Amino acid sequence: MFKDFAEAAAFVQKNHIQMVDLKFSDLWGRWHHVTISASEFEPELMEAGVGFDGSSVGLKSVKSGDMVLVPDLSTGFVDPFWEAPTLSFICNTFEADTKKLFARDPREILRRSEAYMQANGIGDHTLWGPEFEFYVFNNVCIENSVHTASYRVDSIEANWNTCSGGHGHYIPIHGGYHAIPPRDQLFNLRTQMVTRLEQIGIPVKYHHHEVGGPGQSEIETPLMGMLTAADASMCIKYITKMVAHNAGQSVTFLPKPLYGEAGSGMHFHQQMFKGGVNAFYDASSPMLLSETALYYIGGLLTHAPAVLAFTNPSTNSYRRLVPGFEAPVNAFFSTGNRSAAIRIPKYATQPDKVRFEFRPPDATCNPYLAMAAQLMAGLDGIRRKIDPTAAGFGPINEDIFSWSSEKRATIKSLPTSLLEALQALREDHQFLLEGGVFDEILINDWIKAKEKEDIAVRTRPHPYEIEMYYDL
Ligand code: GLN
Ligand code: MG
Ligand code: MG
Ligand code: MG
Repeated sequence: MFKDFAEAAAFVQKNHIQMVDLKFSDLWGRWHHVTISASEFEPELMEAGVGFDGSSVGLKSVKSGDMVLVPDLSTGFVDPFWEAPTLSFICNTFEADTKKLFARDPREILRRSEAYMQANGIGDHTLWGPEFEFYVFNNVCIENSVHTASYRVDSIEANWNTCSGGHGHYIPIHGGYHAIPPRDQLFNLRTQMVTRLEQIGIPVKYHHHEVGGPGQSEIETPLMGMLTAADASMCIKYITKMVAHNAGQSVTFLPKPLYGEAGSGMHFHQQMFKGGVNAFYDASSPMLLSETALYYIGGLLTHAPAVLAFTNPSTNSYRRLVPGFEAPVNAFFSTGNRSAAIRIPKYATQPDKVRFEFRPPDATCNPYLAMAAQLMAGLDGIRRKIDPTAAGFGPINEDIFSWSSEKRATIKSLPTSLLEALQALREDHQFLLEGGVFDEILINDWIKAKEKEDIAVRTRPHPYEIEMYYDL
């Protein structure tokens, strides 16, 4: 938004900004903020920054937690939710003593991954189109659905009836895809979300009701530059949650909040440009995909188990990656097929539109790390010329769930648990270390933090275990 401090300061003056809000992501991809009075918004801020404890947000160890935040002026937006006019910035994090950019800042890791691609002459820039699926629950639904329906499919429809006010226009299980009002009760809410997003400069391609009966929605953006798309992902989660909250409702990006109903993914459409043209396009290839695109796909599918440790990093992620819900279970690519890990949209045929989407990810990821990990896997495929067909990744345009289990077993599976993904990352992460993009410390910190989450869930008795075993 601003190219230098003087421009930002003039905006503060002119728009009677009272508060300047500094937002930054923790290791997990959750924003935190600290707010300064506009009178403290001085040029020194750009040098000295605002101190914070990096150990409280997973970025640093306790013994050396001191860090500072410096606003990235290009990210400024007027935060639409507060009484006092508030200008928000997404921040970069610096070492408190040396004032050096913190090497494991997730935004910096993302920037390094694209710089690594450029330095190796592979591409000039990438474009990314994340898709956001989420459930909207009202308070009755949260109580009932999250605590009850999450393990009993028969109670979902009853819950949705409660949510829709019992007027009969409820959406049955799996019946919500592009539903129209009055069954789609969320049109106004999504429109408010989209309006807010556009106000702060985030373009939206469309919004619609998704398959999930009890209030699943989707917002999709056009393709954007890599850092812009990751920053926008943070903003989209914030804006959707805030708009729903202000309307007495609640948005969750939990990948699988309801047993037996569609999960919520965060597919990433991706493209690479070189010399001003789409490096993924080749008019003479059967799927219109260039050799570069195919090698990238080969790399992404080869490293998919390790990549999922970043793109699907919650215990709940793997409750979504099961057959029957348009979520991928196996590592293969395809045109059209929504059970594939990589889908090449059939409708995107113009030279500048040809692309593919990576479908496993969900929004419990830290978008900066998730995107950097995907890019590094794709770049490794290009470097090693991994032909996805020779590597056994398809293309497969059939429904593999209609195949015999023996035949299906010939296609590599995606991890079925967070632990499996973390183990894959432990064994396969050299591709992330190339060019110093990721480092061992971050990978180890990530594995440690995520293993703790796995233990936290694994050591708690599950409500459905009570149902199955109580009476044994
Ligand atoms: N909800 C599905 C998923 O979990 C995707 C459905 C779709 O976009 N067609 O990925
Ligand atoms: Mg979509
Ligand atoms: Mg969708
Ligand atoms: Mg999609």
